[in-house]
Amino acid sequence: MYPIHMRANHRKLNDLRNIKFHKHFIEHHPGSVLVCYGKTQVLIVATISNQTPQHRKEFGKGWLNAEYNMLPGSTLERKFRSGFKGQDGRSMEIQRMIGRALRQAIDLDKFGPRTITVDCDVIQADGGTRTAAITGGWLALALLLKHQKQDHLLIRQIAAISLGVKDNQIFTDLDYGEDLTIDADFSLVGCSNGDLVEFQGTAEKVPVRAEILTDILNQGFDAISRICKLQTNILN
Ligand code: UDP
Repeated sequence: MYPIHMRANHRKLNDLRNIKFHKHFIEHHPGSVLVCYGKTQVLIVATISNQTPQHRKEFGKGWLNAEYNMLPGSTLERKFRSGFKGQDGRSMEIQRMIGRALRQAIDLDKFGPRTITVDCDVIQADGGTRTAAITGGWLALALLLKHQKQDHLLIRQIAAISLGVKDNQIFTDLDYGEDLTIDADFSLVGCSNGDLVEFQGTAEKVPVRAEILTDILNQGFDAISRICKLQTNILN
C-alpha cells in the first residue's frame, strides 16, 4: 500500500530511513557510536564513573543516566548552546526517556556502585533524534560492556522508532518535514524479543481513534526488529 502523501526518497509507509552506525567514533572511548537515521546524526559516548546516587550506593548497586543535547548548528535556526541559558525542558524530557530506556538493557543491581553516563549530542537534526539516541545508546552501552568484559550484564537488546498518523495512515520513522505535518506522533521503545519498554504519543494536530494503537504497535515492532538486526551486525 502506498501513502496518499508521498514520502521523501519514495519511502513506503513502513520503510525506515537509511540507518547507519559508526562504532568507536571517538577513538579513546570504546563505548562511542555515531548513529544516523537518514539525515539525523547523533554522537553517543557511554562512560563509567565511580560516583553513584545515594539510593543505589548504599546497596552497592549501579546506575545509568543519559544526557541529551542539540549542538547549535544541528537545527535550521541556531539552537542556543545549553549551559549558557540553562537546559530546555524538551532536552530534559528526552534525556530522562533515554535513561529510562537504557536502564532496562543492563543488570544494574550486579554492576557495582558505579554509574554509566550516556552522552547524546545531536550533530544534525532531521526528526527522530530521541529514537536514534536510544538505538545508538544501546549499541554504545553494549560496546562499552563488551570492552569491559561485562557483556553478561547486558540483559536486553533495545531500540526505538518514531511513528506518525495522518489521515488514518501510519508512517514509520518520520523525518522533520513529515513531523511538521503529521496529525499525531508516537515514540516506541522495544526489545528484540517484542517486549514493550515505553510507548508515548500525542495528537499534535488531530486526535486519532484509539483503535489504531494496535496497528501502530505492530508496525513499530516490525521496525524495532529490523533495527535490532542492524545493531547486532555492528556489535559482532
Ligand atoms: N527541532 C528543531 N529545533 C528544536 C527542536 C526540534 O529544529 O529546538 C526539529 C529537529 O529536526 C527535530 C524535530 O524538530 O529532530 C522533531 O523534534 P521532536 O521534539 O519531535 O524530537 P525528535 O523527533 O528529534 O526526537
